[in-house]
Amino acid sequence: MQVGVCYGPGDIRIEDKPLYVVQKNEVLVRVAYCGVCPSDVRVYAGLSTSSTFPCILGHECAGIVEAVGKEVTSVSVGNRVVVDPTRRCGRCDNCRRGYENACENADYSRGSFAEYTVAWESNVYKISEDTPLENAAFAEPLASVLHGFKKANIQQGDSVLIIGAGPIGLMHLQLAKLAGAQCFVSEALNARRKTALTFGADAVLDPKNLNIDHPLVPKRGFEEVIVAVGKVGAVQQAAKLVAHGGRLVLFAGFYPPEPMMLDPNHLHYKEIDIIGSYDCARWDFEQSIRLIESGKVNVTDLVSNRFPLYKLSKAMEAVMNMSGLKVMIMVQDIAQEEHKESI
Ligand SMILES: [Zn+2]
Ligand SMILES: [Zn+2]
Repeated sequence: MQVGVCYGPGDIRIEDKPLYVVQKNEVLVRVAYCGVCPSDVRVYAGLSTSSTFPCILGHECAGIVEAVGKEVTSVSVGNRVVVDPTRRCGRCDNCRRGYENACENADYSRGSFAEYTVAWESNVYKISEDTPLENAAFAEPLASVLHGFKKANIQQGDSVLIIGAGPIGLMHLQLAKLAGAQCFVSEALNARRKTALTFGADAVLDPKNLNIDHPLVPKRGFEEVIVAVGKVGAVQQAAKLVAHGGRLVLFAGFYPPEPMMLDPNHLHYKEIDIIGSYDCARWDFEQSIRLIESGKVNVTDLVSNRFPLYKLSKAMEAVMNMSGLKVMIMVQDIAQEEHKESI
């Protein structure tokens, strides 16, 4: 099978590897699509501190079951599936306390920038026949967005500010709209501001002139602000825009990490909650699939570029230069079939 192996920053090679042999509780998946995540790009750009090389990246995978281990009962050959890349132990302190997204013994399935991947049965989810596999490949990022959305506790009629209109920000926008909120989006790139409007933003703002006196900003501030960019400046700006008793959700990680100055009195007197949101749990994953299957969240229009596996490096660069939105790797001919018209 063909595999995209990352040997170090900027160095991805497509190699021929022997096909995986499935263990008794594993599922072999023929990968159709795998989305490129900013965390993949961080490794490729040499910004990740936790990565070891060589590695196979790619964790937003949808495909078709090719083989199953002898103890697997919930999926069978030919099923259309998505893979939750993280296996949580269920035994560690965090898992037992309900934070399985932060499992201390988390184990990750092998990367999906490859023609095949293997996953544990517990991490393989069937999707409906009429859900395009490309849409299904959004299950993991949408599950993480859903995790943050729940923490934001958005109520009908709230005014919500989303900072950053990349694929993640645009999914936050759609969930906030579904929750009945009035949604504002702050984004530096003009093209992305326009896209945010097509995804239902009530107003878009340029962070350069975003402040509490801006005519579009509610005088009381926003009940919820979701920061979907990893910039300390954005959080500092956001903190000043949260309404009394409101919530500020830090959705993105910060690379490289940077200390942040905030006026503690501002938080104290305005009773602001600052909330972190990281990754997702199994129930987020499950709900994410339902949202995709029902078409309630439009993921189709989030895809801006599609690359075959052998152009993986180009795909990484497309994410890095922010020229589009979601970049998809179309791995196998099943993917090419779905997109015959667009090729
Ligand atoms: Zn991801
Ligand atoms: Zn655990």
